[in-house]
Amino acid sequence: MEHKVLNHGIRMPMVGYGVFQLTEENQCKQCVTDALEVGYRLIDTGATFGNEEFVGDAIRASGVKREELFLVSKLWIQDAGYEATKKAFDVSLKKLKLDYMDLYLIQQPFGDYYGSWRAMEELREEGLVRAIGVSNFPPERLIDLCMNNHTPPAVNQVEIHPFYQQREALQVMRDMDVAPQAWGPLSEGQKDIFHNKTLAAIGKKHGKSVAQVILRWHIQRGVAVIPKTVHKERMRENLDIWDFELSEREMERIAMLDIGHSEIMDNHCWCTAKQLNGFRIHA
Ligand code: NAP
Repeated sequence: MEHKVLNHGIRMPMVGYGVFQLTEENQCKQCVTDALEVGYRLIDTGATFGNEEFVGDAIRASGVKREELFLVSKLWIQDAGYEATKKAFDVSLKKLKLDYMDLYLIQQPFGDYYGSWRAMEELREEGLVRAIGVSNFPPERLIDLCMNNHTPPAVNQVEIHPFYQQREALQVMRDMDVAPQAWGPLSEGQKDIFHNKTLAAIGKKHGKSVAQVILRWHIQRGVAVIPKTVHKERMRENLDIWDFELSEREMERIAMLDIGHSEIMDNHCWCTAKQLNGFRIHA
């Protein structure tokens, strides 16, 4: 496993396991148990995923030492603001049954997230979280947050995959020393990505699957990944990406698959802002 040293000085695994849409208790617990068993140490959840409790149970039952794990969770828009963030963090930590979190992210750049950031800076100073960051922050909001606060975000978790490569956003993250982490790294399987001709041909040459080619492409761009699968074999497959390297020419061929926008979530649309702001996760 490769690691990235974050600007807050801590080491983050470049490949983790995401638990989005695993809302059924037994399935979620089994998946996290399997993921830890095959070697994942970073688990990515969020208050809005509705499964922090199941993740916490599976971690506790696994017997994996706390210091080996890297737990990521996220604050939802409904809990933006200084006081609400402190409360929401406490709720998440209790559900995860942890004394501290490794990385806590503001999931969306909406609501009073400047108040949230001040609360998160304090949580970090108190040792309750080792690093703090953001998610779905476009370049202009990321720069604004970085330039108006004491602590820069350690991570920006955004949608990145071969169909939506986010070159400009990645350049801005590099300039600001914010580590990119891709959600939907396999494009959630959209556009029949696992049968894409270019990716399959590259995979054939290396004796690797399309998923492995995509994940390797992310790593070679310096982007951390958190693929999700419910299948233990695929969990293993998605971790097995360290014994081959894509050539410059292959990286260029994958660069040509970019369509320049998301077909999963249009973050630039007013309707997305309206929909996300209206999504409630508690009373
Ligand atoms: P993803 O990881 O890009 O894709 C998941 C899909 O790929 C599933 O349908 C899975 O199917 C399939 N898959 C995985 N590995 C495969 C393999 N080796 N071969 C064939 N198919 C494979 O999508 P995602 O779950 O949206 O993103 C990953 C994580 O990012 C999430 O779990 C979550 O932790 C995080 N996330 C964050 C945000 C945010 O706003 N910050 C938003 C979305 C997601 P099977 O399960 O059937 O194998």
